[in-house]
Amino acid sequence: MAQALNAFDTGSSRLPPPPARSGAVRINHVSRTFQVQGRDVHALDDISLSIRPGEFLSIVGPSGCGKSTLLRFLAGLDKPDRGTITVDDTEISGPSLKRGIVFQDHRLLPWLSVEKNIGLALRSLPGAAAEKSARVAELIELVGLRGFESALPHQLSGGMSQRTAIARGLAPRPPLLLLDEPLGALDALTRTHLQSELLDIWESEQSTVVLVTHDVEEAVFLSDRVVVMAPRPGRIRRIIEVPGERPRRRSDPNFVAVREEISELLAHEH
Ligand code: ADP
Ligand code: MG
Repeated sequence: MAQALNAFDTGSSRLPPPPARSGAVRINHVSRTFQVQGRDVHALDDISLSIRPGEFLSIVGPSGCGKSTLLRFLAGLDKPDRGTITVDDTEISGPSLKRGIVFQDHRLLPWLSVEKNIGLALRSLPGAAAEKSARVAELIELVGLRGFESALPHQLSGGMSQRTAIARGLAPRPPLLLLDEPLGALDALTRTHLQSELLDIWESEQSTVVLVTHDVEEAVFLSDRVVVMAPRPGRIRRIIEVPGERPRRRSDPNFVAVREEISELLAHEH
């Protein structure tokens, strides 16, 4: 594990190897207050959470409970006022190629093809051009976009754009992949389909995944654990272990029971 990370850091001439179950996250007593029109908004209040290497963890909760704020901290795009966050025992100090992030809006560059948008994520990494092209081809295969390598973003459906964004997030083989409602804007069928794909991707890439979602069924289908958050102040209400082998059947009584338990917790928050 340490070796994998070192190869990533020391400017060796190869792309980093797969993360091999690194990506352990520790969130220790993290808080953040924003000033909005002269008033304090407690976006996050004393959040503590450990995420296991290779875990698939989802975060659900009403709008405004601090989900995106927490994900931005994990990405190194913003910082807590109090508390610390470490990934593999190193404190997060800014954005890093070790942490991929995918947003609800895909944020692809409109003038670049699918292939080039994905390849952009590898630009600042060591490794020969041929090796990078091979990685891009592998990702295109992984997210099911073969035949669309040269397509421009405006020629893609919503689902295809999100697949491209996910491939871009995965390109540098980050031990930690952060997903902020990546399927939120898609229709139900495409969404269900992409959930299965996300599961396959997680299994083949072996990254730790933190997914923010509004969709309780999606969280239960994908996750080892689901963190239910509550707003004002943003805090963890409960953490629920999801039992059952994957792929899970949505009609399974245990699946339905966990889904209902989480939905009731959320209804209570409203
Ligand atoms: P969620 O993703 O769960 O909907 P957010 O993390 O986006 O919630 O926001 C949590 C709270 O913090 C909200 O009340 C939001 O308005 C506030 N907030 C988030 N980012 C900022 C910011 N940059 N400036 C001021 N307030 C913010
Ligand atoms: Mg959000």
